[in-house]
Amino acid sequence: MPRARRAPQVHKFGGASLADSAAVRHAVDIIRRHRAEPTVVVVSAMAGTTDALLAVAQQAGSGDARTVAPLIARLRLRHAEVARALLPGGRLRADVLAVITERFAELEALAEGLRLLRELTPRTTDYIVSRGERLSATLVAAALEAGGTRARYVEATDLIHTDAAFGRASPDYARTDRSVQRALLPLLERGIVPVVPGFIGSTPGGELATLGRGGSDLTATLLGRALGAKRVSLWKDVPGLLTADPRVVPDARVIPQLHAREAAELAYYGAKVLHPRALIPVAGRRIPVFVRPFADADAPGTEVSERVGAGRNPVKALTAAGGQALITVTGNGMLGVPGIAARTFAALHARQISVSLISQASSEHSICFSVPEPVADDARESLTREFREEIARGEIDGVDASPGMATVAVVGLGMHGTPGIAAGVFSALAAGGINVVAIAQGSSELNISVVVEAREAAEAQRRIHAAFQLSRIAGGAVIRPERMEVILLGYGQIGRTLADLVGRVRRPALSLKVAAVIDRSGFVFDPQGLGPRRLAALARDKRRGRPLASAPRGRAGGAEEAIAHIAGYALTRPVLVDLTADDTTGALEAALLHGMDLVLANKRPIAGRRAASEALWQTARARGRRILHEATVGAGLPIIDTYHKLTESGDRVERIEGLLSGTLGYVLSEVGDGTPFSRAVRSAMRLGYTEPDPREDLSGMDVGRKALILARLLGYRGELGRASVESLVPKWARALSLPEFLERLDELDAGWKRRVDAARAQGSVLRYVATVTPSRIAVGLRPVPAGSPLASIKGSDNQLVFTTARYKANPLVIRGPGAGAEVTAAGVLNDILRLAGA
Ligand code: ADP
Ligand code: ASP
Ligand code: MG
Repeated sequence: MPRARRAPQVHKFGGASLADSAAVRHAVDIIRRHRAEPTVVVVSAMAGTTDALLAVAQQAGSGDARTVAPLIARLRLRHAEVARALLPGGRLRADVLAVITERFAELEALAEGLRLLRELTPRTTDYIVSRGERLSATLVAAALEAGGTRARYVEATDLIHTDAAFGRASPDYARTDRSVQRALLPLLERGIVPVVPGFIGSTPGGELATLGRGGSDLTATLLGRALGAKRVSLWKDVPGLLTADPRVVPDARVIPQLHAREAAELAYYGAKVLHPRALIPVAGRRIPVFVRPFADADAPGTEVSERVGAGRNPVKALTAAGGQALITVTGNGMLGVPGIAARTFAALHARQISVSLISQASSEHSICFSVPEPVADDARESLTREFREEIARGEIDGVDASPGMATVAVVGLGMHGTPGIAAGVFSALAAGGINVVAIAQGSSELNISVVVEAREAAEAQRRIHAAFQLSRIAGGAVIRPERMEVILLGYGQIGRTLADLVGRVRRPALSLKVAAVIDRSGFVFDPQGLGPRRLAALARDKRRGRPLASAPRGRAGGAEEAIAHIAGYALTRPVLVDLTADDTTGALEAALLHGMDLVLANKRPIAGRRAASEALWQTARARGRRILHEATVGAGLPIIDTYHKLTESGDRVERIEGLLSGTLGYVLSEVGDGTPFSRAVRSAMRLGYTEPDPREDLSGMDVGRKALILARLLGYRGELGRASVESLVPKWARALSLPEFLERLDELDAGWKRRVDAARAQGSVLRYVATVTPSRIAVGLRPVPAGSPLASIKGSDNQLVFTTARYKANPLVIRGPGAGAEVTAAGVLNDILRLAGA
């Protein structure tokens, strides 16, 4: 048999890597860069094509013709556009366009046939979807030729031989090996690059069958095996094989090297990144498989090989498969009766039901295992039949099926012989209140699988990932979040302004969406994000007094319920933004426990009792979550940020002093200019400068809280009660209802006029000043000399003066607008962007 002198390389390009003409060009570039060695190329269908073709098949098969024609037209256009963009013209282009026209003309005929017959078989489905791969291989081969690389389209059905299980065919290795060698080695010897459509093979009867979703990976390893390839590279839209699915666990990391058995286990248990059987053809053959980032062709990605890595971490990665049902066979009579387990699995095998997790209680009191949801009833019925005599005799109580489950598999070779892994998984889940329905350890001890309710699977993965510190030990690069979901707690004026700002953020590396809004009545949530029109409509409704619970698709419930519900979805990077003025500690704790970061404009949670606020920081630290709260002091002014920058650079902040209330600043400067106090307060309310009840501001409590937040930064350990806070609300007015208070506001005017005049007579103006040191907080009304910087502050501006070890003689001053929805929302947005790392 002729052999290529040098072992070839196989390069497979996934669908996401072939999205448009620019992507195909990039793929061609990658191939040319590796041309020094004999090269074989495998391609998936262009992104989204397989799904679209499946939709054509299904819709045509159900007799629905209306939507089919436009779907086909769009696909045809897309392929033709890519061909035109890639190929300069002439024969090559004409030939490819002719192939495209022909494949879609045939598809139209097939769709019409299906529409009439209304019967769709797996065999026809396979034939329909196969054109996705065939077309992209045609395009890539032509693009290579056009760029001067000798390439040849090779029909996959001539190479890959399978059984007749349409839709999930299994390869016949021996036949495939022979055909591949016969067809490809001569091409390789002549320096030609064979381009093979992935995903398809031919049955013993010579019909086309597909290898199951993601099957191009398998095509690549089959070719690699047959050719004794030096390596197989799978170019994908991820930086490599990660410690977890990055869409579920945002801090997943690239695993630089993974043993083939570990990778196979991950693929088998549902890690979407590899076809479940992709690694079987190369097992034991010393053909390394590389999962590599298409977007960054120089990055190494992940090496999957027979090497046992040097890493000490027993757990390498985790994955989850949803859509499972748990079947349980229970009964006292099972004890010691031989063969129950064997009969159980034989009965399932006879129905071709594959079981993915088995656990048998040591008491032999029950056997439970998981199966794909769609076959759960079938499994239960066949077992009830199998054991009907034992059930009649009461030896077996019955067979139960519970749907809605997911299996989370924790994988790593080092788990073998490392005690406590299962316990670690358990306690990570228990800490989050996640119920483990079943647990099983593979006999290889290569994996531990737990069954949890599907809605808790995402959270379960995040917790296990954190518990085993997979984001640290894998040693790979951090994956930047692409998506970030904002959850607004409070949808008042600031919330609406913020939603608007979020919608206008334009950052190439970040997709920022408002996923939910929560108010006191309930919440509105869409995991895909609430669009600007939706948010505007909700805002309009809110202004008209309609609570979120009664909005379209609104749900009633408290904030904690809302958060628990939202956490059930696999959000990428949820951030809870607290814009309320309530005591939201419970909701914030829940959010942290569910893996959310926090951004606060609400002061209360961190300006209450020290124990409560420390508990919150403590939870955040324990969960690896962050709390940012720039907007709690000085709205959008960079005050907290400045503090951190100073201390990070080795400075020591000794004292912060200044005007911390835009509201009081505004009221006092108005009053100083001769406006009656009552009028100044009312216009501050109208301008949105005050808390809902202006007495919160006038009592000094609001400034007190801000001062406390700053003081705690400096290391102050006391409570607010210990601080001296001067209230501007006389005793008699404190117990009134808000309307009564506003009604009687005029009664304060005369007293204020006297105070202002007295200060003026001394050459001073009145300002409400906060002074904060590590050991003291003082907040109150002070006369300041009319010419001083503090006196010059007008309107709602804040001014803060930092006295530090470095800025002593000449303190650092920060000054600017300190109240108002716009600037507060901007401060919050800054924190959100900081979390995104953008
Ligand atoms: P291809 O383009 O080759 O078909 P896939 O889309 O099938 O590639 O596989 C990549 C996808 O797999 C990624 O988008 C990612 O969301 C998902 N995925 C799931 N688990 C993992 C994991 N552990 N590592 C990397 N990607 C994963
Ligand atoms: N195009 C097929 C799919 O989407 C096969 C593959 O991409 O590997 O599943
Ligand atoms: Mg795939």
